[in-house]
Amino acid sequence: MQLVFASNNKNKILEIQSILPETIKILSLEDIGCREEIPETADTIEGNAILKANYVTRNYGYDCFADDTGLEVAILNGEPGVYSARYAGEQRSSDDNMNKVLEALSDKNNRNAQFKTVIALNMNGKQVLFTGIAEGEITLEKTGNKGFGYDPIFRPFGYKETFAELSLEIKNEISHRGKATQQLITFLTKTT
Ligand code: IMP
Repeated sequence: MQLVFASNNKNKILEIQSILPETIKILSLEDIGCREEIPETADTIEGNAILKANYVTRNYGYDCFADDTGLEVAILNGEPGVYSARYAGEQRSSDDNMNKVLEALSDKNNRNAQFKTVIALNMNGKQVLFTGIAEGEITLEKTGNKGFGYDPIFRPFGYKETFAELSLEIKNEISHRGKATQQLITFLTKTT
């Protein structure tokens, strides 16, 4: 069985392929000849995951899954949320994005936040969504040099370290994406 992962991130693709049974072969966008930028114009994280998965299924005819992630800060009414990648502008700079969050929280006591990943799967004519959430708080400053994106300013509850200080193994166990991916894998393993 072939399933497209609507991503060109080789690390993410290899990671998922290594966990899945050999009967499921994961194809990247490059593998199916999809070189165009898939529009991410929805105003929710769920909506963008669905847009990406549907784009591939509609235009290329493959069963497919796609993910979308956002950082939701409670006192900022869930911002940056679906706009996490370009919170500080179209340059999509993680440093600028983190600075903007730190600035917005500079006079706030409540620093609670969560990462949310939604995976949309189109399989056999049906659509299923999987959601993974990691709860924690925004630190006062950037710490750590592992990971990517907002990792240096996010400390998951129950840990003294930020995501950027934790090993990839631990991050995968407790992270939003790790949890959503685990649900996808359980589903695929059961239904194939
Ligand atoms: P995407 O949906 O994976 O493209 O991510 C949207 C935005 O959230 C980008 O700015 C990423 O850098 C950020 N992001 C996604 N996943 C993580 C994560 O695990 N840690 C920190 N930032 C993330």
